[in-house]
Amino acid sequence: MKVFLSLILSIPAFLANLVLAQDSPVEKAAASELPSLLAIYKDIHSHPELSGHEERTAALVAKELRAAGCEVTENFGKYDNPKLKCYGVIGVMKNGSGPTVLVRTDMDALPVHEETGLPYASTVTTKNDEGRDVSVMHACGHDAHMAAFIGTARALQRLKQDWNGTVIFVGQPAEEAVGGARALLKGGLYNRFGKPDFALGFHDKADLPTGHIGVTQATPTRTLIPLM
Ligand SMILES: [Zn+2]
Repeated sequence: MKVFLSLILSIPAFLANLVLAQDSPVEKAAASELPSLLAIYKDIHSHPELSGHEERTAALVAKELRAAGCEVTENFGKYDNPKLKCYGVIGVMKNGSGPTVLVRTDMDALPVHEETGLPYASTVTTKNDEGRDVSVMHACGHDAHMAAFIGTARALQRLKQDWNGTVIFVGQPAEEAVGGARALLKGGLYNRFGKPDFALGFHDKADLPTGHIGVTQATPTRTLIPLM
């Protein structure tokens, strides 16, 4: 988890050609938040929700963003099907004049049966949108993404003297089913909260070596950065 939090906090610093020392304020913030972020990670992992049904998860993300000092909008977004409620979460953290940076997490889980045997393994079952009984699991890492996202908000709040601008935190529903991003745009994400100068999103990836992050900009060229 510390790796994930360091990762997302490192990207802007990397882009600014800064070197993060072990005892940097960012590293210290990541280390001190780690125990409570792990608890959040396990809680989210134990309570996965399918795409388009992220009610509990979105409420948790909203609560944590609010606690980190963001102005939060819940249930944001519009699906093409007007009968579906959209659980998008937007948290805005303002800190004077400067660029606007969008930071995104995904929130939904998959119809997968967990067999890890972990103490916090998911035992959740539900009916999917077709009415079939399915198990549900965060098998794609969105639980870790959310915990790191919350940690990022906490750290940026704590380190406000070190940056200026606006951060728009986006909790994206229905990433697996694809429609969530479209719903956020259809709901007027950029009109209402402003168009960001930069957007950061990240995902765990099985084909990268352990202890490395891959950075992709607008082109598909990937740069590998060893983590400290
Ligand atoms: Zn995913």
